[in-house]
Amino acid sequence: MQTHYDAIIIGAGPAGLTAGIYMSRSKAGVLLVDSGIPGGQTILTHEIANYPGIESTSGYMLANTMKKQAEKFGCVVKSNVIVQKLELQGETKSITLSNGETYTSKAIILATGGRSKTIGVQGEDQFKGRGISYCATCDGDFFQDREIMVVGGGNSALEEAVSLTKYASKVTIIHMLDHWQAFEHAVEEMEANPKIDYILQSRIVEFRGEESLNEVVIENMKDNSTYTRKIDGVFVFIGYEANTDFLHQSPVELNARKEIVVNADMQTNLEGVFAAGDALQKKYRQVTTAVADGTIAALSALDYIHRK
Ligand SMILES: Cc1cc2nc3c(=O)[nH]c(=O)nc-3n(C[C@H](O)[C@H](O)[C@H](O)COP(=O)(O)OP(=O)(O)OC[C@H]3O[C@@H](n4cnc5c(N)ncnc54)[C@H](O)[C@@H]3O)c2cc1C
Repeated sequence: MQTHYDAIIIGAGPAGLTAGIYMSRSKAGVLLVDSGIPGGQTILTHEIANYPGIESTSGYMLANTMKKQAEKFGCVVKSNVIVQKLELQGETKSITLSNGETYTSKAIILATGGRSKTIGVQGEDQFKGRGISYCATCDGDFFQDREIMVVGGGNSALEEAVSLTKYASKVTIIHMLDHWQAFEHAVEEMEANPKIDYILQSRIVEFRGEESLNEVVIENMKDNSTYTRKIDGVFVFIGYEANTDFLHQSPVELNARKEIVVNADMQTNLEGVFAAGDALQKKYRQVTTAVADGTIAALSALDYIHRK
């Protein structure tokens, strides 16, 4: 069994898969590991309509094609393995996985992306999967002809609210601020949808129910008053956290939000350690930006390996 590679990529979302394609195509030996299944956040979305050259595709289709492309060039992809030990300093890097296997490499690319934020209020844990969801594609279908709420005011919230009107009879968006934090076209599409209404400067402060969610307590943030509202489901789209928990005790530089800090070549503060995608300190997080980062990280890692 091969245990030494030119590069190990941690995370098989669009950033990691792109890095895998570029490096393997350049004949580098590459191991790509993921704690789940390849595709990352893309597999949570029913439609990607802004990836240049592809008018419309599902996230799953796009990611699966990227995976096949990487494997065609020789990239070894391992799914459902958790990195338990990580040695990033020195010329030879190493990782030990949850299945006990240890692999070494000359370079490492960190591409572990991010995850949905939770609201963190009473009842949220209790009703997760029983009325509260973080994925419209996965759970929208359960709310056929039901009334639901969407929490958030960014692009994801507005776009997913529109997509949820395929199922729900009514979608109410609840947002803490008095303005949207989304692209104009996303706001226009949301406002044009007759099934959607919204409540601004308000937030959910409690989820209530029995077997499943049936009521939320809403705080009007203008006057701090609260009221209850019957609801069949709530979808939460309030941003993300970088998946960098496994780096918190490592020497990799993270910012205050625990995002990875890189230079323009996607190099971290450690020699031979690169990073790409949504796990980075950056403003815009899209498939296109993730694949761009993945490309740069791969080319920088190849350059590093050739110089060694
Ligand atoms: C609901 C939703 C809809 C979206 N719609 C669009 C859209 O229409 N267009 C668009 O351009 N973008 C969209 N995005 C954003 C886009 O999906 C992300 O920007 C993109 O997937 C980021 O890619 P990434 O590879 O950096 O990270 P991710 O996609 O997050 O992938 C990271 C991968 O790393 C793995 N991982 C995490 N931690 C570890 C670990 N410790 N060890 C091993 N593996 C690990 C994860 O399992 C995951 O597979 C959407 C996102 C969401 C949530």
